[in-house]
Amino acid sequence: MPPSAGSSRKSARECNIQVAVRCRPLNRKEQDENSPSIVECTPQLSKITVKGLKYDSKTFAYDHVFPPETSQVDVYETLVEPLLDEVLTGFNCTVFAYGQTGTGKTHTMEGVRSSDAVTVEDPGLGIIPRALYQLFEKLEQTTNEFSVRVSFLEIYNEELFDLLSPLDQYQKLRLFEDSRSKGSVVIQGLEEVIVHNASEVFGLIQRGTEKRRTSETKMNKASSRSHSVFSVTVHQKESSMTGEELLKTGKLYLVDLAGSENIGRSGAKKDRAREAGNINQSLLTLGRVIQKLVQKEQHIPYRESKLTRLLQDSLGGRTKTSIIATISPAMCNLEETLSTLDYAFHAKNIKNRPEINQK
Ligand code: ADP
Repeated sequence: MPPSAGSSRKSARECNIQVAVRCRPLNRKEQDENSPSIVECTPQLSKITVKGLKYDSKTFAYDHVFPPETSQVDVYETLVEPLLDEVLTGFNCTVFAYGQTGTGKTHTMEGVRSSDAVTVEDPGLGIIPRALYQLFEKLEQTTNEFSVRVSFLEIYNEELFDLLSPLDQYQKLRLFEDSRSKGSVVIQGLEEVIVHNASEVFGLIQRGTEKRRTSETKMNKASSRSHSVFSVTVHQKESSMTGEELLKTGKLYLVDLAGSENIGRSGAKKDRAREAGNINQSLLTLGRVIQKLVQKEQHIPYRESKLTRLLQDSLGGRTKTSIIATISPAMCNLEETLSTLDYAFHAKNIKNRPEINQK
């Protein structure tokens, strides 16, 4: 929530959405199959060219383009660090990872640890642990009293499940409009864990991932068909010069979306068709919500999916959003890569078409 009504009114029509594409290196399987790289990144111009099409190559422009050699820290500093400052000022922000399964969404969000004794210097760390490290570092530099709470949930088939619940069952959660704050929602029964330092986050991610895995067996699903939402809420109490106490609350949502290969798939049967339909609906609604925010439209269709409903007070207005679309460079993934690039492109540039280059 904004710290003052004045600033919220002033900036209500502002839209701060950054769209980036991250291309991962060719993986072992792609190399073994001799699937060549068909993606050319030009980070200086924030452009990506896809070759290997029958007649043309296609060039897309974004706010940022990260080639395969890009480090985790570069991605973090470009897309997430600016959001953290907003969260500390008392605003809500969101980071999305969108893309085909296997292209690096979880690698980007969570990353890898080289050993159990992690430090922020570990180059493999993804956005979530990095954000927590930096958050505590910044909070400890202030004289404010503060608390940091995290929650971790999954949206599967338009239902919400708590990934940090201490209960054994895989419990459904209910979403309500918050009667105290217009445009906000509350999730009944969601476990919120107070964290005291950044390293505690690794245990929580692991707990959530295990819960997700157990539920996969029980519900016959794959995590690539669900969205995971990791949220960090920061409460601060600041004393002003006049001795007044100012309360600030900011939130950071870190969202690992369902695999985009589920979009537009037909031929699925029964349960799979319903699942595919729901994933379609939520990814397409998210794309539409972003487009409409960029176009500064009056009506934003937040209510058309659980994901956008959940995030409605953190998308648009005085919030900042970063979208990272992840792709594979390999020829064998050409179709999915083009679909991801199109989705990310249309989220931001509605009027301009991608350039088509004649070979
Ligand atoms: P997704 O979450 O999109 O399904 P993952 O994050 O699980 O994909 O990535 C699939 C594999 O590719 C993992 O083994 C991961 O470590 C590796 N990978 C993904 N992106 C990168 C990258 N930028 N650099 C190195 N390895 C990567």
